[in-house]
Order: sequence, then structure tokens, then C-alpha cells
Amino acid sequence: VASYQPWASTSAARAVMQGNRSRDTKPELALRSAVHALGLRYRVASRPLAGVRLTADLVFRSAKVAVFVDGCFWHGCPVHSKQVITNSDYWTTKIRRNQRRDATFDDALRSEGWLPIRVWEHQAPSEVALLISKAVRDRRAH
Ligand SMILES: [Zn+2]
Repeated sequence: VASYQPWASTSAARAVMQGNRSRDTKPELALRSAVHALGLRYRVASRPLAGVRLTADLVFRSAKVAVFVDGCFWHGCPVHSKQVITNSDYWTTKIRRNQRRDATFDDALRSEGWLPIRVWEHQAPSEVALLISKAVRDRRAH
């Protein structure tokens, strides 16, 4: 029992080693293939805004849609992050900072005419893919 670790502590340790936003995570790959299956093409892990160090997980340049697959722990998913951060100011502070940065990036994207779409890594890839597809096609139509 002494060696018990909640999943987030290992996940958090891994994220620290890799930097907050890791690439090619399982949820990300699942979403990419679901979106691909709907006939949409996109850039992976590219920067939507010139001169801004901001990387989106899926970028639809012509539609100006940027998709971020946010890790439940690091970005403070209401379903999965609360239970593990209750007794940790350290993690809470880090997560809040990430959330503020996410909001700043979203504002920057919107001011350049982009639509930021944030999804949680726990969301069903097929449902998210439909949502993304609709947004991309709507914006291309206009
Ligand atoms: Zn979650």
C-alpha cells in the first residue's frame, strides 16, 4: 500500500520530463486518425501564428481552425484533475498557470481570425472529430 501512486503522479512526472505539452500521445493519435477518416487534412504540431511560439496539435490552415488536445491533468480537466490536486498547491499553481496560458493563446488566435478548439484527452475521438469536421467545413463555406 505504501507504494500506491495515483495515475496522475506518474503522468505528471512524465509530463515534467517531456515538457508540459507532449506530442503524439495516445488520445492525440486517436483523434488524428478519426479526423483523417472524415476526409479532412491538417498539419500536425505546427504553429498557427507566425512569430508566436504556440503549437497546436491539429492545424487547419485554410479554415483557420487550431485544435488542442489538452491533457486532463495539466490543463485542469474538471473531471480528472480535481481529485489528485486537492492536497497539492504545487500542482494547482502549475495547472492554473497552464490554464491562463491557454486562455492567452486562445485570445491571440481569435484576434487573428482563428477558431481555437480545445478538447480534453478523455473525450471520445469520434465525437470530437465530428465537431471539428463541422467547424472546419462551416468556416470553409464562409
Ligand atoms: Zn478528463
